[in-house]
Formats: sequence, C-alpha cells, structure tokens
Amino acid sequence: MTNPKLFKILERLETPDFKTNEPALHELDQFLTLRSFLGGYALGEIDEQVWKALRLNKVTFGIVRRNLFLNVTRWFTHLESTYPALQQCVKMPVKAAAGTDQPGGRYNIKLQDTENGVVTRFPPEPSGYLHIGHAKAAFLNDYFAHDAFSGSMILRFDDTNPRKEKQEFEDSIIHDLGLLGIQTQRVTYTSDYFERLYELCQKLISEGNAYADDTDPEVQKKDRYERRPSAQRDRPAAESLELFKEMRQGTEIGIKHCIRARIHFDSSNGSMRDPIIYRFPSWDAEEGPQPHHRTGWAWKIYPTYDFACPLVDSIEGVTHALRTTEYADRNEQYYWFLEALGLRRVHLWDFARINFIKTFLSKRKLTKVVDTGKVDGWDDPRMPTVRGILRRGLTVEALREFMLKQGPSRNIVSMDWTILWATNKKIIDPIAARHTAVDAMGRVLVTITGAATIPWKEDRVKHPKNPAVGMKEVTFADKVIIEQTDAAKFQDGEEITLMGWGNVVIRHLLKSADGAIERLETELNPGGDFSKTKKVHWLAAKGTQHFAAQLWEFDYLLTKDNLTKTDDLDNCLNPVTATMVDAFVGEDCKRLIEGDIIQLERKGYFRVDKAIGNGPDGKAVMFKIPTGTGKA
Ligand code: ATP
Ligand code: MG
Repeated sequence: MTNPKLFKILERLETPDFKTNEPALHELDQFLTLRSFLGGYALGEIDEQVWKALRLNKVTFGIVRRNLFLNVTRWFTHLESTYPALQQCVKMPVKAAAGTDQPGGRYNIKLQDTENGVVTRFPPEPSGYLHIGHAKAAFLNDYFAHDAFSGSMILRFDDTNPRKEKQEFEDSIIHDLGLLGIQTQRVTYTSDYFERLYELCQKLISEGNAYADDTDPEVQKKDRYERRPSAQRDRPAAESLELFKEMRQGTEIGIKHCIRARIHFDSSNGSMRDPIIYRFPSWDAEEGPQPHHRTGWAWKIYPTYDFACPLVDSIEGVTHALRTTEYADRNEQYYWFLEALGLRRVHLWDFARINFIKTFLSKRKLTKVVDTGKVDGWDDPRMPTVRGILRRGLTVEALREFMLKQGPSRNIVSMDWTILWATNKKIIDPIAARHTAVDAMGRVLVTITGAATIPWKEDRVKHPKNPAVGMKEVTFADKVIIEQTDAAKFQDGEEITLMGWGNVVIRHLLKSADGAIERLETELNPGGDFSKTKKVHWLAAKGTQHFAAQLWEFDYLLTKDNLTKTDDLDNCLNPVTATMVDAFVGEDCKRLIEGDIIQLERKGYFRVDKAIGNGPDGKAVMFKIPTGTGKA
C-alpha cells in the first residue's frame, strides 16, 4: 500500500508554486534515502505519478537536473533510464498547451486517414551518425506516432548497402534517438526481409512485371533518358527467373545482370522508366566485396531502396510513410510496386529536407572532417550531428519545437542557425544559474578599503528572476580579482560597481611598465549610486578557492553559406573554428556537472562539458552557447 505521506508530497509537487514544491522535494528526498522506489521494489503507480509531476514542472525538473536533492535525482534518473516509456508523458504539455486534443493542433501538421491507427517509421541507413536533418525526420515521425495520435513508431535500419554500413552507426543511432527523447516501439531491419523481398521479386517477374537485364549501365542510362525500351524488355518470365537465380548464386552470367521493373519505358516520370530493383552492389576497387554487417556473405545481390522501401513499409504495417520531397517523383513508383504485388497501400507524406547555412550534412563530408582530424569526432560541438549540437548546448526542447514548426513546408531552404539558437535561448534563460568567471590572463587584484578584513560568505540567488533555480554561496573579501579588459577602461578616481555587492571608488590605479593595469586600490562606497557606474564581475581573492576553467567558443566549419557541387570542401573550411580563454571560477561552480547549462555573468551562456577536476589538468571545460546573435 502506498504511504499516504506520498500522496501529500505528490499534491504539493503538482502545484505550480515553488514555495510549495521545495519542502515537498525535501520530504521526498528524505523518503528516498534508503529506497530505490517509492512504491515497493519495482516501478509502481506512485513512482510514475511523482516522476511525471517533477518532469512536467519546469522548475522542479531543473532542480532534479541540477542534483540539488541527491536522492531525488538518483531515483529520477534511475527511473528514466530503466523505464524509457515514462518519457511519453513528457510530451503531454505540448497537447495541453494547444488547448485542444485535435491532432496536430499545435503545429498545424496533419495526416489523412488516421481512424484506424497510425504507424510511422524512421528509416536511417546505418552509415553515419544522426545529424540535425535526421532529427527533423525523427521528430516528425515521433510527433505523429506519439503526440498527435497514440500510434507507434518503428525504427527501421535501411541496411541494403553493405559497403557503407556498420554496427557502430547502428548503435549510435539508437543512442542518439534516446538523446532526443524519442522512443520507438520496434526496431527492424530491411535485411530481415531479404528472403521475402527475393520472393516478391520472383513474383513480379513471373507475373510479367519485371525482367532480367544485362544492358551495359551506360546504355541503360541513355535508353532511359531517351525513353527507349531495353533490348531485354521482352525477355520471357521463365528466362528472367532463371537469371535471377543465377544472380543470387553470383554465377558468371548472373553477375552481368540486374532486375528491372517493367513499368513504362516512355513515362514522363523518369522514375517509372523501368527502375532497377535488384542489383549487385558496386564495390570499392581496392576493398572488393564486403560482408553485410548482419547477413554476412549470405547475399550477393541486394534490393534497391525503390523496391525495398514500399514493400517493407507495407509488410511492417506502416500506415503513413514520411519522405523528404526529393522522393516525390517516386511516389507514383512506390504505389505501383504495392499495387503490382497486391500489397496493402501506405500513405505517403512529403516534407522538405532541411539544410543550414555554413553547414554540410552529407555523410561523406562529415566523415571526411572526422577522419582528417578537422574536428575531434562525431560529437565535436562544431559538428551538425545530434551529439555535436546537444554538446554545444542546444536543448532537445528547442530542437523539437523548431523542427515541428517547419511542419509540412515543401520549401527546401538553408535555415539560419540564429533562429534555432534564439529558440534555445528562450528555453535556457529562465533556468540557467548565474555564475562568475574571471579571465585568468592579466587579471587584476583590487583591494577594497572599508570592507571587513575577514572574508565572509552570503547566500545569493542563482537566478535574479527565478528563485527556484536555487541559492549559491558567494564569498566577499577586501581583496577581489577582476578582468584586465575591465580594469583597462577605468580612470583614477572613478566610481565603479562590483556586481552583487556595491560601489567602490578607485583611489590608485597601478600600471606596469607595458601599460597593463597591475592593481587597483579602492574604497568601498556603500551608499553609491549604481545608475551611471561601470559594472564588473569579480571573484573574492581571499577566504575562498578558485578553479581553473577553459571557456571555449566555436565558429562555423564553413566560410561559405552554401556549398555548391563544384566547391572543394577543403577550400571552404574555416581555418579557425575554436578559440579558448583560460579563466577562473569560484566555489559556487564546484557542484556543476557535465551537461549543466549556466550563464557566466557578462560572458553569456555556457554548457559544462567537463566539471571541475575532469578536464585537461583538472580544469573545467565550458562551451559557449550561441544565442542567435553574432557568431553561431
Ligand atoms: P543518404 O543520402 O545516404 O540516403 P540520408 O541523409 O538520406 O543519406 P538516411 O539515413 O537515408 O540518410 O536518412 C534517414 C531519414 O532521415 C530519411 O527518412 C531521410 O529522408 C531523413 N533525412 C535525411 N537528411 C535529412 C534532412 N537534411 N532533412 C530532413 N530529413 C532528412
Ligand atoms: Mg536516404
């Protein structure tokens, strides 16, 4: 039986008022001291309800993320990783916010014929890491399957090209969908259907709807272009079937052939001019044939995407197949295959491929910058991969909102990163804790007459407008450090403001021989007016500890907005894409953990990539998060 105390806690957590939430969190934390679950020894209803309450309340979720109540965070993250289905409830406010249960209410994107349920699929080829373009496709599929409708979503590895595919990519795709908070109900593989697809191809051939062709590829191309039939087009089915068998065995005669659908050689739609449906893969001259990463050497021939996609969609029960608009010409062909084979029809829904300026999404180019060491890996914060952009400090919420807003637009445009980062800023600003970092190089010691000579500590809010973000301890002392660039702007006798403390008047400004400011002697002016003074951030230089931190800022990888086909990637790569400044942070940053998003006063938003102690030489590592202004 559930402890009645828990219901009281739940009630208070569901109230959108921090004053009520906080004590409830305290109690919950105590309750969880020696427990893994609230309701026994496995996930119970009360765990689910409390988890949901915490997750749906931005403030409490922020607190959990920040690990302020250790037991609560431990329990919360344990639940999250052990019961991924819980994530489904996270998306509920999307519908609630729309104030309607209408499918697609909020984002103005709709599907037809949904009465009998919705099954979508995301079909990546496991030949690279997921990038921001894939994220759009994944979010749209997820939205229709889980938000607009309570359907299901399939993750299908479209693994019909053994030359490019790897287990590593497959694992990364599953992992990265998790990062995006997308739960798929089934994971399938096109390769699971190889036998079935082979049989269906035999059926097509025997019914006169496909034939074996050994026309030279160049001639084939020309024939297709000039809308001429292949010389083999009228080959009898029995002969084609025999050749198909030879293809499967990879015999000398077999390897000269491919199988083509017999549709319309003279169609105005190029994709209907007898497309290839089975073929031998083209191998790298040096590497030669490679085993398929799942079926090994079992198959020598592979179905083409054109053939496999509609068939597997239909067989797997997909109701709505989302495809990027460059496939729109092939929709006719897609339906033709289903009809010719008497398979259940699937709805196609086209959406535009997304591109970003100064960004390339081609797997070949992305692989190249990784392999040549231009970036540090697929998760480098400069990479447009899901891992890269999240590591740079983009929130999943912002990415999702941005992508769903694109909706069914059919315009393929190069999006500007600034809109995405501005969306992100709206989300992080209300919850990013404020901290201080002082550039290490040239830092200036400031002595303050009139301040107590014994350092003292005070609790301060981490966020001036959102007390729920919590408190931090700030050390005050009669010696502080400030940045050289700030000090260089001061005059003798000037009154300045130490942020979060008060005004001081500069009595002596000591310069070194090279003109740099070495030291400031100041006097506290407690009643000073803040309205006209320069404001500086500072760290106490007495009675507290400083920690070294690297502050990184990144730039675009490309110097050109859009790469054209003739552009050479190497000539368009930006030579300097990362800059780093060494800084010091105070004790208030000691509890920051990897993934935390903070604001460093007057410097901007940063994502903690390595906590204090974990980076090079024990330094913290922080990445600047673009906000949609200036560099992105
Ligand atoms: P390839 O050109 O090698 O096929 P791809 O980028 O299309 O590469 P897939 O793994 O086939 O990669 O893509 C999986 C899904 O993601 C597909 O449904 C595809 O339409 C979609 N997708 C890929 N790139 C983008 C993009 N830039 N914008 C929107 N959707 C994309
Ligand atoms: Mg593709």
